[in-house]
Amino acid sequence: MTDTIGRRRFIAAAAAGTVLGSVSQGQAASAQDAADREVRLEFLRPREIVAAQKQCPTIFQPLGTIEWHGLHNVVGVDAVKAHALCVRAARTGGGVVTPPLFGGVGGLNEPHTFIMDAEENIFANLTRPWLEQLCREMARNGFKAIIMLTGHYGAAQQIVVRETAVRMSRALGIPVLGTPEYWLALDVGYTGDHAAWGETSLMMHLYPDTVRLSELGDPPYQGVGGRDPKQSSEADGKRLTDTIVARLAILATNMPRWTEQMLDRFVEAEAALVARQMTAPRGKGNLWTAWRNAASVMKDYGKHLAAEEFEAIRDAAAKL
Ligand SMILES: [Zn+2]
Repeated sequence: MTDTIGRRRFIAAAAAGTVLGSVSQGQAASAQDAADREVRLEFLRPREIVAAQKQCPTIFQPLGTIEWHGLHNVVGVDAVKAHALCVRAARTGGGVVTPPLFGGVGGLNEPHTFIMDAEENIFANLTRPWLEQLCREMARNGFKAIIMLTGHYGAAQQIVVRETAVRMSRALGIPVLGTPEYWLALDVGYTGDHAAWGETSLMMHLYPDTVRLSELGDPPYQGVGGRDPKQSSEADGKRLTDTIVARLAILATNMPRWTEQMLDRFVEAEAALVARQMTAPRGKGNLWTAWRNAASVMKDYGKHLAAEEFEAIRDAAAKL
């Protein structure tokens, strides 16, 4: 899709009231409009933003950084991966997507890596206030729900993103979700990795031209953590993408409509989860303590979240 065609289609669809699946011009045409719709905020003009907000006042903030992702991947994997997932979700479920934030907590001790806050620094002197201000500006600009999706996921980054989301949900009175993308795909077998099978498969699907498995070399692979990237496939990437995007799309559609009571239930569950992640090391142990059994205990997190079964999330978090 070119930007021009995408924008023209969106305007035509908006004018005809067919954005996002109205049946007035036939479902096939609407589906095409939705698939090609420009949702990237930086490429929208004022009237298009107003129309998009009227349709669905949700905004996505993809998060990542610049970090070594093996010899076979580009260094922007985390951010561009999160961005591509958000764009697909917004086209399906509604909302707009901000440019990805390149910068966060931690990063490998490898070349071509920008570390803005130290790996285990849950106090995150730069990342936390930046995320807070982004949320405040999004609310001030009329958005009623925020999804911060991080494609970069050291333990401290995950804690900072989720904790900030919980606090901003409370302070702003709108739902703010802050999660790594892999938490939405735990039940389909992706438990998070670094430049290994999961991330590489996602990139093979989302940005096929960027992956060069032929340049990976032989194990042990430098700066790769998880299942052998040579087992990656575009098909696996599509399967993970479809699951993550479907759940994000449901959330994007529904979150702005949540009642205050639902918001409270959501915040309580997310707060319980991040509190467990933050307190499990008891101020001294390994920051990953609450992740030891997360793949099984939190397996259905994505399913529960999309189904608004917040108490199930809260109860699962207690078992971490
Ligand atoms: Zn990554």
